[in-house]
Amino acid sequence: MAGLFDEPSVTFARVAVERGVDQFPDGLTYGIPERLLPITVGQLVTVPLGQGNTPTHAWILEITDETPVFAKGKETKQIYEKERDTIALPVDLIDLAKWMSKYYFAPIGPTLATMLPGPVRHGTGLVTKQLLDLAENPPTDVRITPKQQGVLDALTSIPKSKRPVDPKTLMQLANIGSKSPIDKLVEHGQLSCHHITRVEATWFRQSRDATTPEKLTDEQEKVIDEIGNVLHDGYSSHLLFGITGSGKTEIYIRLIEQAIANDGTALVLVPEISLTPQTAARLMGRFPDKRIAILHSALTKSQRHQQWSLVADGKADIVLGARSAVFAPLQNNQINIIIVDEEHDHSFKQDNAPRYNGRDVAIRRAWMAECPIILGSATPSMESWWNATNRNISTLHKLTKRAPGLVAPNIEVVDMRKERVHGEVGYPIVSTRLRAAVNKTLAMDGQVLLLLNRRGFAPWIACASRTCGWMMKCDHCDTSMVYHRRKPLEQAGFVRCHHCGTEQRVPKKCPDCSKKVIQLGAGTQRVEASLRESLQIPSEQIARLDADTTRKASDLHAMLDRFGAGEIRILLGTQMIAKGLDFPNVRLVGIIDADTAIDLPDFRASERTYQLVSQVCGRCGRGEGTATAIIQTFSPDAPAITLASKTDYETFATTELAFRQNAMVPPMTRMVRFIIKDHSFEQASGRADSLVDRLCAIADEEITISTAAACVLPRIADRFRFDITATATTSIALQSFLSAARATIKPSRNLTIDVDPISML
Ligand code: ADP
Ligand code: ZN
Ligand code: ZN
Repeated sequence: MAGLFDEPSVTFARVAVERGVDQFPDGLTYGIPERLLPITVGQLVTVPLGQGNTPTHAWILEITDETPVFAKGKETKQIYEKERDTIALPVDLIDLAKWMSKYYFAPIGPTLATMLPGPVRHGTGLVTKQLLDLAENPPTDVRITPKQQGVLDALTSIPKSKRPVDPKTLMQLANIGSKSPIDKLVEHGQLSCHHITRVEATWFRQSRDATTPEKLTDEQEKVIDEIGNVLHDGYSSHLLFGITGSGKTEIYIRLIEQAIANDGTALVLVPEISLTPQTAARLMGRFPDKRIAILHSALTKSQRHQQWSLVADGKADIVLGARSAVFAPLQNNQINIIIVDEEHDHSFKQDNAPRYNGRDVAIRRAWMAECPIILGSATPSMESWWNATNRNISTLHKLTKRAPGLVAPNIEVVDMRKERVHGEVGYPIVSTRLRAAVNKTLAMDGQVLLLLNRRGFAPWIACASRTCGWMMKCDHCDTSMVYHRRKPLEQAGFVRCHHCGTEQRVPKKCPDCSKKVIQLGAGTQRVEASLRESLQIPSEQIARLDADTTRKASDLHAMLDRFGAGEIRILLGTQMIAKGLDFPNVRLVGIIDADTAIDLPDFRASERTYQLVSQVCGRCGRGEGTATAIIQTFSPDAPAITLASKTDYETFATTELAFRQNAMVPPMTRMVRFIIKDHSFEQASGRADSLVDRLCAIADEEITISTAAACVLPRIADRFRFDITATATTSIALQSFLSAARATIKPSRNLTIDVDPISML
């Protein structure tokens, strides 16, 4: 180790290393040599890690003068280097990370890494700038050409405070067309030259929609008054429950206007990118003089870096983005209001560590920033509804009517059990009723949105023989393979596992009995093919919007633009089309299969179904004329379907909460889920059982620990999966249990710990 740290440490820092070493809550201690001062909390540094002293990124959590005490013979290691200080995280985000790390049982380093977008860390889009000034002690023995003298004179003529200058400015000042006189002066030591690196940040341009309603509705006025009254009174939490099209966005706009009137920033979170183009267009249109930064992964890397830097420099009035925008680099005192639109949306939950929910982190941020937070939805999550109606930790505001100019759609339920055509196998994809409605809508020049939350052509490949029963499974997972057609060779399909991504050819014959192989069920590709065959409209007027057709955000935006312009008349898609799209000419919405989630063995199956059906029905009736929504289902009596068809969220919520109470699941309890994975079934099962024992040893009477059981998807990517849940009636009880567990249990590749899980599969 000699020679590695030859300078004395003048002070010490606790740091969080980026890699998953869980040194919660304090981090690791390193010495700071004088040459690295000044150094601040939040600064990104490189430290030697492990026996090999591998250079590793780390963040400064705390600076301390206390000399650490180490075991004999061990010396304190020193920080190697400081990264550019343009990428330091605000201290308030470090505090938020500490909270997240504790709450979500995640190592702090990776939590901080999540907060700093990759392009910022990697310096994508950074430019190096030269800055020039007169040298302090120029050499006297060099010959100076007239042009060079011109440069020196030009620099001398401007005041010292305006120096240094960049080469371009200097060329203009000296009136020269080539940079070489400047380069020569630098080379000879007549001019001093520094290099600085920074991001050339520019505002992100986006189409604008400045439509302003003439008059607010009474309901809107009331909500704006109620929330407006407490806008400057510190933390308060509000649930804005307004049916689709009731004008929630208008309320956000008015409140943002008030909140940032003098200074400060509004933070607005929306789910996924598909929503952002329209919301961004509205914000840009309505706040033409405000600076709006957009943070989401669909931007190019350098745009992301630019937008982040603008926010970090305190230049943004409004920050808009998806889940990770909750980590906008703002100090708490800059944030005046936080809005989470479509708060129920599952895309706010990150499904790798740290497994945070952006909505819940936003609530914490508002609390830390002492500002109001508004959660908006037409179909609030059971958690938020419970908080607002029973726990009184959030205020409920309602919008029960659609905004003027919008009509409520007529919602019809089609019982697919009655649609079987005599003599045919299976059921038609599109019912007689829906087909008639599509034709009628097209005849009236209206547009149609069709939802099917299942990608690919057919979800099952099976043997044609009734007695054989063979079905194609993934070799690596306990799931069926999904048939996809490959364009343009429509017949040359392949099968893919949606869980591990494995692809295979379709066998020509059943491997068990050599009979024919058939494709069962329908995904979006099959519906698309069937529409193209059966409808009398040009094929380019039908488009499919799902993860397979919109790999790039630009594909998605282009498709939505074509739909907005009327070039696409039927837009068919997965749940991506259920989110916030606002196109006035949509006169018909059809749900091909409302049951995709309803039978999942997950206590949120019914809630998800209600949300999806209700949200997509709300995409029509946003313009002139009547609007219809048609729901195809095999479970016409399920409360999620009947109540969604009546737009009766409150009855649904009451029914659902009673069920949750009985089952003792969230929101009545708080939950953490442990998933144990292993290549060997026995190992997985054994480790799961021993984890139950260890958890039971830590748990007090407030904690209920389940037995270990195979997951609903018992094997994914060759690993067997078992799960265990622990529940408590309060978050405090669950958190103290987790703190105790942390001493002996560590999350890893083979052990996922998911606090407030939203999927139980
Ligand atoms: P939500 O977010 O609740 O679904 P939006 O805010 O998108 O609803 O509003 C739906 C439509 O109604 C938008 O086109 C909006 O411009 C319009 N709108 C909102 N409030 C009013 C109002 N008071 N008068 C007229 N139109 C309104
Ligand atoms: Zn698989
Ligand atoms: Zn067979």
